[in-house]
Amino acid sequence: MPCYIVNKNAQSNGDHEVHKEGCQHMPDLDNQMPLGAHESCRTAVEKAKGRYPTADGCAHCCPQCNHG
Ligand SMILES: [Zn+2]
Repeated sequence: MPCYIVNKNAQSNGDHEVHKEGCQHMPDLDNQMPLGAHESCRTAVEKAKGRYPTADGCAHCCPQCNHG
């Protein structure tokens, strides 16, 4: 299972993006909060929402979990 991280910094639209390890659009290491390994981005985003209610999947590595 791939590992996921969430960006500690919100984007301009207020979302905290969730990325799959290896994504080209990962934030700086200092801004990554690890979410652990997940079967799919859905559970990774669910976990991220426990910390950041506005968490959303990255459009590039988690398109099926991206809602804008
Ligand atoms: Zn990504």
